[in-house]
Amino acid sequence: MMLKDSVAIVTGSGRGIGRAIALELATAGVKVVVNYAGRSDKAEETVELIRAAGGEAVAVQADVSQQADVDRLIRTTLEQFGKIDILVNNAGITRDTLLLRMKEADWDAVMATNLKGVFLCTKAVSKGMLKQRSGVIVNISSVVGLSGNAGQANYAAAKAGIIGFTKSVAKEFASRGIRVNAVAPGYILTDMTGTLPEGMQTDILRGIPLGRIGRPEDVACVVRFLVSPEASYMTGQTLSVDGGMEM
Ligand code: NAP
Repeated sequence: MMLKDSVAIVTGSGRGIGRAIALELATAGVKVVVNYAGRSDKAEETVELIRAAGGEAVAVQADVSQQADVDRLIRTTLEQFGKIDILVNNAGITRDTLLLRMKEADWDAVMATNLKGVFLCTKAVSKGMLKQRSGVIVNISSVVGLSGNAGQANYAAAKAGIIGFTKSVAKEFASRGIRVNAVAPGYILTDMTGTLPEGMQTDILRGIPLGRIGRPEDVACVVRFLVSPEASYMTGQTLSVDGGMEM
């Protein structure tokens, strides 16, 4: 319970990797704001799972790509829990297609949620963190932000952007007691990846040295480590959690 009574916002934590992160942090004693975009049923489920395990959580709808929504997310968190110690920028979407077929709207949508959302949420929490001279931010990038991927030029660009953003903000905030790191998951089984055709999943599996597809929990425990005092000498880093996929 090293993180007991800390307060975290986990964006996009109604389902998938975000839900696993919210549960993992709550188990470590963190009070969690479960942010979501549209699936209130899933977000309430996450909150119920946390409460059933003895933790504290609330669900807050907010589109991370919208300034007014992000302002409301921060305001609600402060009203509910009084402070923000941890931000996990996890919300993300895909609009996969080959570049020649990619529409401007596919590019804009992915950039808005996956990169602008990280900027808006980080900026919004940083004011309070700078004042309290402490805070931890973890940004969820992706293996494809490091390696690129055919059919994901928009997504890979946004995820690579997160790595540059993480290093820059880590440098800006290091002297003020705020650490900023990223995690680059590989192929993790969630709604985002579950719809891929069987054949494609088999191909992906062949490229994973550890020989299995990842679980949301594989990512969540690395995030818990990064926000904990055990990682107090780490900032600006991107940790791959990908079964060896990228090496
Ligand atoms: P997922 O199962 O599709 O869940 C995405 C979550 O993000 C949902 O809770 C969704 O809310 C939320 N969300 C989407 N757009 C949002 C917005 N504009 N504002 C607020 N919340 C929004 O995805 P996942 O697989 O868990 O992925 C989580 C993160 O890990 C993403 O950043 C993804 O790019 C990254 N990642 C995933 C994999 C993988 O293999 N799955 C690999 C590398 C990186 P609703 O439930 O309300 O729709």
